[in-house]
Amino acid sequence: MKCSFCKKEIPPGTGKMYITKTGKIYYFCSSKCEKNMLKLKRNPTKLKWTKVKK
Ligand SMILES: [Zn+2]
Repeated sequence: MKCSFCKKEIPPGTGKMYITKTGKIYYFCSSKCEKNMLKLKRNPTKLKWTKVKK
């Protein structure tokens, strides 16, 4: 399972699952990723600390 935002591997038993109103499921390795994705709506390709390929 990988973080939906930064694409880092999430160890089993950790991380957070988030389901949107439209039924899309997101996994987050940390609240930092959750916040960036859901509240700040940042693009992970523009952040240095994510592993998303450009
Ligand atoms: Zn993450």
